[in-house]
Amino acid sequence: MLGGLVHRPAQRLATQLAQRLPGELNHVFFSDSGSIGVEVAIKIAVQFFRNKGINRHRIAYLKGAYHGDTFGTMAVCDPEEGMHRLFQGILPDHVMLPRPPKCGANQPEIVDYFRTVRSILDVSLVAAILLEPLMQGAGGFFLYDLEILQNYRAICDDLGILLIFDEVATGFGRLGELFVADLGIVPDVIVLGKGLTGGHIGQAATVATSAVYAAFLSDDASHALMHGPTFMANPVACCAALASLALCLNPDYLPKIRDIERRLMGLYRLRNAPGVVDVRVKGAMAVVEVDHPNRLEGFQAYAVSLGVWLRPFGRYAYTTPPSVIRPEELAKVMSVFDGWFLP
Ligand SMILES: *Cc1c(COP(=O)(O)O)cnc(C)c1O
Repeated sequence: MLGGLVHRPAQRLATQLAQRLPGELNHVFFSDSGSIGVEVAIKIAVQFFRNKGINRHRIAYLKGAYHGDTFGTMAVCDPEEGMHRLFQGILPDHVMLPRPPKCGANQPEIVDYFRTVRSILDVSLVAAILLEPLMQGAGGFFLYDLEILQNYRAICDDLGILLIFDEVATGFGRLGELFVADLGIVPDVIVLGKGLTGGHIGQAATVATSAVYAAFLSDDASHALMHGPTFMANPVACCAALASLALCLNPDYLPKIRDIERRLMGLYRLRNAPGVVDVRVKGAMAVVEVDHPNRLEGFQAYAVSLGVWLRPFGRYAYTTPPSVIRPEELAKVMSVFDGWFLP
């Protein structure tokens, strides 16, 4: 469990992640799943202020957010739309911010949104703002603009609080960049999961900047981050992550995602199909949003009958194909959408 020792795969992986991630994201904490990775990020944010003797212990999260299934992360998921309604009332009390204006919002909308956000943050003892950058995945593949992240970065700097990116879903190329954080807005803490090991074995990484790390580095043992998962930096998982990362760093990897994106854009032709509210495509992600869940009744069985596994939820029929998908396979996936929405 890395209790005072290290092994080569862990060291290599931490070094490579730190090298590849933007800015000062240099200090890597390994755990077993995305949910735990987010829990660690929350702990880091709260203890960052504890160690400085400042009482900021709440996390601000967005309406529509999904950050995991454990009790700590359920408390920062959308309480209504999420899967955790049953547990309302027994979760820690954090601070929910409204959902950002969607992609393409105009300036007055954005100004108005951040006026509301500021008024909430000014009166709550928030240690960090936690968000899924550019895309809320489980929240309906909802896309918003980079400008929103710029504003959040500025607010965090202004208030002296931390910005946490949950890139468990968006990391490793899903949206067309290796990380959303590559687009110029660097968080104080980033959480990576899912694509870290290419989906082969459970592992997550919570990576903090040197400035955050410095708040924990002390001769006072009580300042240490006390979190020691037994399978932390499991060597097999680290080797899988190293192999996967090498593929992601291959020069043909991101062009492959862009090619998938270009093909998926064919689904825009469904925009005017009956019941379709919106079609969104970004990187290797496409979603068809419908007006009512009953429009998707039977969609899954129909997909299976064509030999494709698609699993819609609520009002969303989506696909997040792997980067290795072949053009003819992707065409088959898209033919399910065409056949269902344009009968
Ligand atoms: C999947 C996901 C998680 C949780 O990861 P697990 O490995 O399933 O615990 C957290 N955040 C986001 C954005 C996710 O998509």
